[in-house]
Amino acid sequence: MLRISELKLPLDHAPEALPAAIARRLSVRPEDLVRWSVWKRAHDARRKSAILKVYIVDAEVKGEAAVLKRLVKDPHVRPTPDTAYRPVVAAPPAPRLRPVVIGAGPCGLFAGLILAEMGLRPIILDRGKVVRERTKDTWGLWRRSELNPESNVQFGEGGAGTFSDGKLYSQIKDPRFLGRKVLTEFVQAGAPAEILTEAHPHIGTFRLVTMVESLRAKIESLGGEYRFQQRVVDVELDRGRDGVRRLRGLHLHTGEFIEADQVVFAVGHSSRDTFQALYDRGVHIEAKPFSIGFRIEHPQSWIDRAMFGPCAGHPDLGAAAYSLSHHCANGRTVYSFCMCPGGTVVAATSEPNRVVTNGMSQYSRNERNANSGFVVGISPADYPSEHPLAGIDLQRDLESRAFVAGGGDYYAPGQLVGDFLAGRASTALGSVTPSYRPGVRPTDLSAVMPDYVIEAMREALPVFGRKIPRYDDPEAVLTGVETRTSSPIRMTRGGDFQSLNVRGLFPAGEGAGYAGGILSAAVDGIKVAEAVARAIVGEAAAA
Ligand code: FAD
Repeated sequence: MLRISELKLPLDHAPEALPAAIARRLSVRPEDLVRWSVWKRAHDARRKSAILKVYIVDAEVKGEAAVLKRLVKDPHVRPTPDTAYRPVVAAPPAPRLRPVVIGAGPCGLFAGLILAEMGLRPIILDRGKVVRERTKDTWGLWRRSELNPESNVQFGEGGAGTFSDGKLYSQIKDPRFLGRKVLTEFVQAGAPAEILTEAHPHIGTFRLVTMVESLRAKIESLGGEYRFQQRVVDVELDRGRDGVRRLRGLHLHTGEFIEADQVVFAVGHSSRDTFQALYDRGVHIEAKPFSIGFRIEHPQSWIDRAMFGPCAGHPDLGAAAYSLSHHCANGRTVYSFCMCPGGTVVAATSEPNRVVTNGMSQYSRNERNANSGFVVGISPADYPSEHPLAGIDLQRDLESRAFVAGGGDYYAPGQLVGDFLAGRASTALGSVTPSYRPGVRPTDLSAVMPDYVIEAMREALPVFGRKIPRYDDPEAVLTGVETRTSSPIRMTRGGDFQSLNVRGLFPAGEGAGYAGGILSAAVDGIKVAEAVARAIVGEAAAA
């Protein structure tokens, strides 16, 4: 098979144009094209009057070796790589203690799945509830301002991305095509097959809920065991004669102790009490950069027109997305984050008396507004102290300020872009209705963010407005605060994926600082599960 990239055709091309283009590209007769399939499909909308479809295809042709030899200098024609998933170690012997995975988010789910596929019968613990019950609690905050600190947008089966846009792409280097394994499992669990071929796939919230349940059924059928509403509150460590500390078990909030010596910590970026408990036990943790800011909302029709021009509304294009960044005079970078076309801004706090924003959408992406994080990169030098957990202190401070500015009832503080740029408080909203529930109170958002952030945002808004007309429209709405863009800490691990100073503790996923998004967290879960298997093999060999 040959993989051909950069194959471009007009947006409205006829189906038969694609095989014809493949034959032309390879300079073979149409009858020599035995079969073909699309690997990825994207759009090139740089020329709005002539938007193109861009394909990567796999093709089988007669005389393949000769074709490849003839096109040896063409970087866009290569042998199709083998993308099948193969475990890196043969199924290891069953250890005395079952491996434990903490967290049933994408990282923990895929760690659990791989361990289960190896016959290692993992135990998966999550502090939150099964996904259907969790959905009710999450809506409780959005509809009735009732927060359940253990069952919400951040905590519970499916993890943080369950109520999301379900974007399933990532910038990570993936030479083993582990992302393909993740997408294939998602399709088997009920995701639309198009996620395998779309360059920027998304699945939306409701499908994610069903998929998470299907994955649970698969893991259980392979011998894995889930335990919900089981919060890990402490770890038991001991020091061997070699002076190295080892994990010996986990204390749950129920008082139960689980003996365990291989544990994946896939707790997400919001499990602040868990980070504190690990820090108190001396587990190596360091502060890392993340980003803070607001959500910005525009009518989706403005974005569609800006990105697709006369082709806006074309059924093959869907709701338009964008990606923006600007380096400011004060050295800060402002960028768009987690853009949700045709979606809603959601209340995403997990702690009482704090307000956090994020975004989600349904598969159809047909809500009135587009939203995205409008955020500024910060680093440990910006945190209130040099303590490894100081980034959390900053997050909490901003989230508390937002709670107060929103009126103290989980409404979010909001401001019109025109008022924000003019430096005056908003007293009413305009033509753009913000989607955040329970609601938005117009105010002065400059009071809830550090000055350097506000300064950078005021510089970036008109710059973005030149790239996307009406981005800085006075009636666009800002809602705050966006503080959970990624983890403010890293639980640093060594080449064997174990904590730098505790054997048997495998930091994983977004919370540990090794992923940013559903796909990268799931891929990290696979890698960490493989590392656990290797450790089990190594210990069996040493015994
Ligand atoms: P998480 O998904 O955060 O999972 C951690 C799990 O650990 C949770 O279920 C939690 O209950 C559990 N846990 C925590 N502490 C403990 C403990 N002490 N004991 C037991 N269990 C514990 N990413 C994308 O790629 N695309 C998107 O469209 C997207 N949209 C998003 C929208 C929203 C509203 C949010 C909040 C996030 C979104 N993200 C998106 C980010 C994505 O969800 C995360 O990157 C991803 O979920 C991280 O996966 P994880 O498994 O590392 O951690």
